[in-house]
Order: sequence, then C-alpha cells, then structure tokens
Amino acid sequence: SEHLRKVLCGRAAPYIIVEEEEKMSTKKRRKVIAGNWKMNMTPTEAKELAKGVYEQVKGKKGCDVVVCVPFVDIPAVAQIVKGTIIKLGAQNVHFEEKGAYTGEISANMLKDCGVQYVIVGHSERREYFGETDETVNKRAKAALNAGLTAIICVGEKLWERECGITAEVVSLYDIPEEQMQNVIIAYEPVWAIGTGKTATNEQADEVCGIIRSVVSEKYGKQVAKQLIVQYGGSMNAKNAEGLLAMENIDGGLIGGASLKPADFGVIVSAAQ
Ligand code: PEP
Repeated sequence: SEHLRKVLCGRAAPYIIVEEEEKMSTKKRRKVIAGNWKMNMTPTEAKELAKGVYEQVKGKKGCDVVVCVPFVDIPAVAQIVKGTIIKLGAQNVHFEEKGAYTGEISANMLKDCGVQYVIVGHSERREYFGETDETVNKRAKAALNAGLTAIICVGEKLWERECGITAEVVSLYDIPEEQMQNVIIAYEPVWAIGTGKTATNEQADEVCGIIRSVVSEKYGKQVAKQLIVQYGGSMNAKNAEGLLAMENIDGGLIGGASLKPADFGVIVSAAQ
C-alpha cells in the first residue's frame, strides 16, 4: 500500500499527510447514499420506483438519501419525494448559465425543478461523451454557483493507472474553499461499475483516504475532515455494511441496486 500511495500521489510527502489524516478523519461525518438511475425509467415508471424507494427508506434517519434521475423524470419524481427524506439529484449539468447550447440543461433549470444534487464526471460520461477533468471541473463550478451540491466522480480504469485519481482530484482545485462544503467526491473504480466486482473494503477505504489527503494538501485539514467521500462500484445490499463501516467511506453512489427499492433500503439502513 505504500507503493500505491506513491503511485497515486507521485511523491512521498503525502505519507505524512495520510498519517495526520488518520487522526483527523475520526470525526463523524454524515453519510450520503445516492442512487444513480442512469438512463432507466420513463417518467411513469420513475414515479412508481420513487414510491417504492420511499416505502423502503421512510423513517430511516441518520443519513442523507438522494435519487439522481434522468432529466425528464425530474418533475415526476419531485412530486413523490416532496416533503420526504429523499432528495432529488440529476446526472449531469451544463457549465454555461444559458444560451445557444442545444440539448443542454443548466444548473438554474435543475434548481428551479427542485434538484439539490448533481453528479458530474461519471465514468460513463467520461468514456462515452468525451468528458475531461476540465469539463468536469467547469460543470462542478456551475453546479456550485447555482447552490447545488456537486457529486464529483473520480476513479481509475486499471489499478496500474491509479495516478489518474490524483490528477482528477487536482482538477477540482480552483473551486473556492467556501464551496467545498457542497462538494462530495465519489470514488468509483471503473472496473467495479456495473460489473459485480467490488473493491475490497480496505482497497476502497485506502483510496478514499488518499483522496481526502489530496484535498487536505490544497484546502487544509478542516475542509478535508468534513469532506464526504463516497464509494461507488457494485455496492449492493450484501456488501454495503462492510464498505460503509470503513473510516474514510462516507456513503455510496449506487447504480444497479438503486433500481431495486428493497436493496436500496438495505443500503440506507447500513449507512445509519
Ligand atoms: C454508478 O453508476 O455510479 C455505479 C456505481 O454503478 P453500479 O452500482 O451498478 O456499479
């Protein structure tokens, strides 16, 4: 694991930060469980799924619950989750405020529909739609400027390319410190997304800790201590408890299992 840290951080100095981090990360952070419905559910189906999710999570306190739904499902789901513990999220946002950007959706449009969270930089967007760290950074800033919470996804394709994580985290760096309280980082190893292969609890925790260290380097310990770092990648009803018990894992970004209300409910319970 020492080698891993060196590869990730490119130099030895963060070892010290990681050690300091071990002390500072003992402070309790709230957990955030976010479902990513991806390109599933028509508005009619989305209403039913949202009702199902509500039935499973109602009365569960102690963690934040978010559903990130397709754009066209937002109004339908907003109706169902209004006044419940479920918060509404989107899966992407454009970086400009308005204008000639055919087919795009702005942060203010989302906000006006009751959206509070937005995923940016999901690996599927990076892989299929040409997202880069630069565009992810711009989208995150647009979301934050509109008062949304940005769930910024980072993750490596292969273990031997892990140094990429540091580069991606570094790309957050012109986000002002005062907006960092509205940033969530989701660590999602690409090889674990939708594959059924989960990182071990220790692997996931280690990288989440390293992400926190990198943030600490730039923003200081206080910001890093409060930063919510989620794990995503085949988290399910069976493995959630172990992952969520880890020191540096403050929640989950959940794809497949978020479409199954009972399983999603078990994950929310595990986060409590
Ligand atoms: C995701 O889409 O962010 C994800 C983690 O998917 P899955 O849970 O299906 O691996």
